[in-house]
Amino acid sequence: MLLNKVFRASLRSGIRLQSSGAAAAAAASSSHAGAPGYSFELTDQQKEFQQLARRFAREEMIPVAAAYDRSGEYPVPIIKKAWELGLINSHIPQQYGGMGLSIFDACLITEELAYACTGMQTAIEANSLGQMPVILAGNEEQKKKYLGRMTEEPLMCAYCVTEPGAGSDVAGLKTRAEKVGDEYVVNGQKMWITNGGKANWYFLLARTNPDPKCPTSKAFTGFIVEADTPGIQIGRKEMNMGQKCSDTRGITFEDVRIPKENVLIGEGAGFKIAMGAFDNTRPPVAAGATGLAQRALDEATNYALERKTFGKVIAEHQAVSFLLAEMAMKVELARMGYQRSAWEVDQGRKNTYYASIAKAFAGDIANQVAADAVQIFGGNGFNSEYPVEKLMRDAKIYQIYEGTAQIQRLIIAREHLGRFKK
Ligand SMILES: Cc1cc2nc3c(=O)[nH]c(=O)nc-3n(C[C@H](O)[C@H](O)[C@H](O)COP(=O)(O)OP(=O)(O)OC[C@H]3O[C@@H](n4cnc5c(N)ncnc54)[C@H](O)[C@@H]3O)c2cc1C
Repeated sequence: MLLNKVFRASLRSGIRLQSSGAAAAAAASSSHAGAPGYSFELTDQQKEFQQLARRFAREEMIPVAAAYDRSGEYPVPIIKKAWELGLINSHIPQQYGGMGLSIFDACLITEELAYACTGMQTAIEANSLGQMPVILAGNEEQKKKYLGRMTEEPLMCAYCVTEPGAGSDVAGLKTRAEKVGDEYVVNGQKMWITNGGKANWYFLLARTNPDPKCPTSKAFTGFIVEADTPGIQIGRKEMNMGQKCSDTRGITFEDVRIPKENVLIGEGAGFKIAMGAFDNTRPPVAAGATGLAQRALDEATNYALERKTFGKVIAEHQAVSFLLAEMAMKVELARMGYQRSAWEVDQGRKNTYYASIAKAFAGDIANQVAADAVQIFGGNGFNSEYPVEKLMRDAKIYQIYEGTAQIQRLIIAREHLGRFKK
């Protein structure tokens, strides 16, 4: 068994992976030392992390992925092992007990986990999404309390923004938080919350200014909410098309009292916090989609080299080999897209444009490549004894959550046109 607790311990005691984006620093210790300009070479530490995640994904996750897909059970043993290895919560800063990895480095891990099973990877990634508002906007006390506890035991958290009546149109959220003394009283309903039934705490976005004329940027407040607060009702696990072992639920808030200490930054700051998190979480979502696409390409390639028709392996039919070539082109470009978007945010630069390009492109190509893999498998591709039909079902959500394919295009167009209008 590969469970490398020593590796995790060494990371906890201070090894800090470097983003390849921190090019100058990375170059000093890596094989391309001194090379100016671009480098596509990972540092030795990044390679080690990638290898650790790859071995864990292939030896621990792949053998159980189909069973979890069939049962829809939450993959608790996998999550615990991944936590032991430091493959979850990797971006929690070191001062709160985490490893403080860059977004780039976390993406390398995400791609590997997604290669094995994106249901499990989404359950893991939802922690990053729930934590990101606290990492970006929490005060010292909030970070110590809520991030710290996640490094002490394998706890989950969730990001509660979407509602039954509003997903893309965040301004249309109806959940209301009213200030009463030193508390806020929350009423409303959230929907499609990943880790909804497993979370120890939630990031919650609620309207604090009821005036419809109040600008969206000031009408909402972000809260941290303990999941066991009275008045929280967790809905049934939703039966989704794919990523079936991920836990998705509706959550109802009925007179839920939240202490004012749990407000992030201040009243009215919530919309910016909730949307700002995406600049850090869309690159990993794109990395997940890339991992799925790489798996589909590998499965299809192996199959095409074995399956024979008309006296030769199907990879020797030009139509099939060209399909594999198209799939390979897409996977390579999706990887470059997520790495660029992660690198940008690690440099401290606004990466909204790159994050949406990466997310939209990887989400689209994951669907195309998974569908092509099913095609290459022929009748077997349509059957659940083979791995690619799961990939096709799992891929669809990448065009929906964390901003749909259409919403990404709205953002890209806005950012692009904005550059011309300046
Ligand atoms: C499995 C799963 C997990 C999820 N996890 C979470 C989570 O953890 N936390 C959370 O808060 N949310 C989560 N979501 C919600 C997800 O982010 C939303 O479903 C998504 O943002 C789309 O919102 P909607 O479903 O309301 O669709 P709608 O916003 O109603 O969109 C419907 C369609 O209209 C299109 N559309 C909408 N507006 C425009 C426009 N202006 N221009 C062009 N097209 C447009 C959309 O692209 C889409 O195709 C999850 C969803 C699923 C299914």
